[in-house]
Amino acid sequence: MKKILITGGAGFIGSHLCKKLLDEGNDLVCVDNYFTGSKENISQLFKSAYFEVMRHDVCFPLYVEVDQIYNLACPASPVHYQHDPVQTTKTSVHGAINMLGLAKRINARILQASTSEIYGDPEIHPQKEEYWGNVNPIGPRSCYDEGKRCAETLFFDYQRQHKLDIKVVRIFNTYGPNMHPNDGRVVSNFIMQALQNQDITVYGDGNQTRSFCYIDDLVNGMIKMMSSSSKVIGPINLGNPTEYKIMDLAKIIIELTKSKSKIIKRNLPLDDPMRRKPDISEAKDAIDWEPTTDLQDGLEQTIEYFKNKLK
Ligand code: NAD
Ligand code: UDP
Repeated sequence: MKKILITGGAGFIGSHLCKKLLDEGNDLVCVDNYFTGSKENISQLFKSAYFEVMRHDVCFPLYVEVDQIYNLACPASPVHYQHDPVQTTKTSVHGAINMLGLAKRINARILQASTSEIYGDPEIHPQKEEYWGNVNPIGPRSCYDEGKRCAETLFFDYQRQHKLDIKVVRIFNTYGPNMHPNDGRVVSNFIMQALQNQDITVYGDGNQTRSFCYIDDLVNGMIKMMSSSSKVIGPINLGNPTEYKIMDLAKIIIELTKSKSKIIKRNLPLDDPMRRKPDISEAKDAIDWEPTTDLQDGLEQTIEYFKNKLK
């Protein structure tokens, strides 16, 4: 039984990670300030004696004794991370400093939930880990993109300077149950709109692309990365390489929900990346991981979740 700390454990990805690690027989400490996460996401886990929750903001130091740390605390939806951009950068940077400091003190292995936003609006397609990215340092998305880039810098400096046992995964657009209905990201927005026969809001012309990974696949990848040999430090892309236009995603969701919704166009947000698709050959080689859930299966499970939320 390992003692594991998960920051951001009450959020969308964190709650699935907590469930899986608990099911595997570990002893968990979940830390969250509930900025975007909720107790509801983890309510099923409270009955376990090996699940402990702390309301705590990672911008402040934390003292716990664990073997492993998964650092996920940070709002991930553009709507939420742009709501208080200064806090977003603080969460990424101060959060990383505090969690790395903790890992160093207690000699724990630490994994950073980094992001495809590291690549910004990419000029290289699909995105490989060695690509340095095309990021606006002063735009509305910068608090998140640059915060996450700085966190990666800190992880690699702690590894070089203090020989810390680090792991960095770059997560591409992930979806599934436990996303907040008002999360603001595309999959939850479109499903909620479709289920209520409201207009589906496609930003821009809908020709921009994303590659959507189902949550169970992602969580398997994160755990595989954490369990890999200490030589595998990353960064490693985790995502589903099948690419969709946002307009096509809207049509698929209308079909799957048998919705009467119409598609309407809204302005494309500033600096919205035009294309995104992970090259996952590194994940296949280093940790023998690739996603197995296709978009239709994943969407059906997600639609079921949101249907229950609306009851
Ligand atoms: P989420 O918003 O559902 O979860 C983030 C969690 O962190 C929430 O529970 C929130 O309350 C908590 N949190 C935020 N600030 C905090 C702070 N200062 N102290 C403590 N807790 C704090 O988002 P998610 O989709 O579950 O994302 C989790 C992580 O994965 C994030 O770090 C995000 O950047 C990364 N990521 C997610 C995706 C994706 O598609 N979901 C893609 C790339 C990267
Ligand atoms: N998007 C959209 N309608 C919405 C929400 C998002 O067309 O209601 C678009 C958004 O402009 C972007 C893509 O969907 O091109 C993915 O957006 P999301 O916020 O999910 O994540 P991102 O990958 O941009 O961080």
